[in-house]
Amino acid sequence: MPINPVKDDKGEELVIFVKFPKRRLYLKVWEINVGRVKLYLLDSDIEKNNAEDRDVTLRLYGGDQEMRIRQEIVLGQAGVDLLTKYLKLEPTVYHMNEGHSAFLNLEIIKNIIKEKQVSFEVAKDIASSKTVFTTHTPVPAGNDIFPLPLVEKYFKDFWPRLGLSREDFLRLGMKPGIDLDEGFNMGILALKIAGKKNGVSKLHGAVSRELFGEVWPNIAANESPIEYVTNGIHTCSWLAPKLKELYNKYLIPYWQDNIHHDHIWEKIKNIPDEKLWNVHVDQKVKLLKLVKDSTSERLRRSGYSYEEISEIISKLDPQALTIGFARRFATYKRATLIFKDLERITQILNNSERPVQIIFAGKAHPADKEGQDLIKYIHEVSMMPQFKGKIFILENYNIAMSRYLISGVDVWLNNPRRPMEASGTSGQKASVNGVINFSILDGWWAEGYTQTNGWTIGNNSEYDSYEAQDMADSQSMYRTLEEKVIPTYYAKDRNGISKKWLELMKNSIITTGGKYSTARMLVDYTNNLYVPLCNLTKKYYGDLDNVAGYNSWKKDLFMNWKDIKINQVNNLDNITIDAGNQIEVACEVELPNINVENVTVEVYYGKILENGVVENVSITPMKLEDQDEEKKKYYFTSKIELTTGGNYGYTFRVMPKHEMLLEPANLDLVKWITK
Ligand SMILES: *Cc1c(COP(=O)(O)O)cnc(C)c1O
Repeated sequence: MPINPVKDDKGEELVIFVKFPKRRLYLKVWEINVGRVKLYLLDSDIEKNNAEDRDVTLRLYGGDQEMRIRQEIVLGQAGVDLLTKYLKLEPTVYHMNEGHSAFLNLEIIKNIIKEKQVSFEVAKDIASSKTVFTTHTPVPAGNDIFPLPLVEKYFKDFWPRLGLSREDFLRLGMKPGIDLDEGFNMGILALKIAGKKNGVSKLHGAVSRELFGEVWPNIAANESPIEYVTNGIHTCSWLAPKLKELYNKYLIPYWQDNIHHDHIWEKIKNIPDEKLWNVHVDQKVKLLKLVKDSTSERLRRSGYSYEEISEIISKLDPQALTIGFARRFATYKRATLIFKDLERITQILNNSERPVQIIFAGKAHPADKEGQDLIKYIHEVSMMPQFKGKIFILENYNIAMSRYLISGVDVWLNNPRRPMEASGTSGQKASVNGVINFSILDGWWAEGYTQTNGWTIGNNSEYDSYEAQDMADSQSMYRTLEEKVIPTYYAKDRNGISKKWLELMKNSIITTGGKYSTARMLVDYTNNLYVPLCNLTKKYYGDLDNVAGYNSWKKDLFMNWKDIKINQVNNLDNITIDAGNQIEVACEVELPNINVENVTVEVYYGKILENGVVENVSITPMKLEDQDEEKKKYYFTSKIELTTGGNYGYTFRVMPKHEMLLEPANLDLVKWITK
């Protein structure tokens, strides 16, 4: 295997360690070259460790919480130690994916304190300027929450090294203002320290801002400092080789270097329909062979007769519209939603003129009984007389199997409980292979759907109960299948090709090939998160005096913030103006002990609906028009545009501003106008 032990200066195998209570945990270091990227693995299974500790890196999931905290100490603390102390790398930016690695913040802070002899607060600011945190799921299991005694056990010798009390340390993993009896949340630790934070689709960014709103109690939840970078797939790893050959012929040479540029995908239009269709059918035949083999084997193991098995697998039909559903069987993904109305789906699948078959694949978490029951239920349904040979389920879903599915079915079904799907990358794998998405407007599809590249299920409604949501979504699914998906697929000409279907396939590839690639994703991470942090480090954070100055500025600001006063100047209540016009608004801000350079004064306005909800909120920075330095009074104005008719409301607020402040909302300071 292309993996080697890392050697130290003396040519010996490198072994590093982290401190555990009353002992050290030793870790052997392995290196893998992934292209030009080095991947390091930490391995506790060496003789220097006791039997229990040897298992720390044995498996990712399955241990108890103590195993989990040990693993996260290895990842976060030993990880930083390896990079900085042993490999002598100086990462400008650390990127945490989920909170599992969030202890790295503490290790970075500890190292800065030790090396530069600065306070915890100053070291924390520097750590913030070096860290990005990405949250990947709105499901609670995405964030480990450790009981405080466990944190105490592993960190009580550590917090003095940060210069923190027990309470201040434990509060790093908690929302502000709560009692000290909740657990230590790794996601919150990451959110509090990371300079930049993001979700993994536009919708998931919004969901995460609400979900974690309490981390910044003074800031409106929808303005939490969490942005988004939509996930993408490694296109060339997921594109079927035969399709890649076809794309090579019709796209520009070396298109692989330009994947994220939308325009290169336009040329997909030039592929003759028959050519694209023939490659697709080949993929489908390959998939159906896999389904046959896998189903025969599984049913044989369960004692079905040769005749029964033959009858089932002989019905698989490469001409039939084939729907695929494959993912982890987490319950929020609602694998069995399509069986909500068995009568109706029976009708849909069994139309002899326009047959439909469904292929499921999935895996449930070993501890997820409900997920396992879903698989059992699908098997049972597939054995009902009306569904035999129409519904198939493949066991042991993995990447290899996924390749067959995402390129071999006609339609990729995804029906998660909105808005629980953070991104859902399998649909992106399907679409670049010309497989049409048929999905809830959740995760990436909420932004990827263009009305001409696939179909949606349900709408953006919120529901009072899961039952109501399941009912509405399943009805929508049946209707779209009956009225759109099936008729479009079967609108075949005498060559067996549906022009409308091919158009969808091409639109699907063209509209998603670039935007939902890892190439585009990495450009976004680089431009929007990594480079801004690098620039800040280069410009300011590399110099301790700057950081110390910024830190005392923050202290002053926190002390004096309460004294800010905003006064309205001209009263525009109850005036009437025509839509499309601009009005000028003004306010006076009193800033005792705060430099006017260090605030942004904003007008916050929107349309007020009958129910009191404010719609289409705009937040516009105002212009400093005049000032009275002696009285510390500043006069700000702004023009606001009322684009449509109706009732508008506006108000003013002050937000902090500093060139070293990564996001204004990070400080959790905002001052609204008070009467
Ligand atoms: C892509 C992929 C996933 C992720 O799929 P989702 O759409 O996010 O559910 C899971 N498992 C395998 C094997 C995959 O290839």
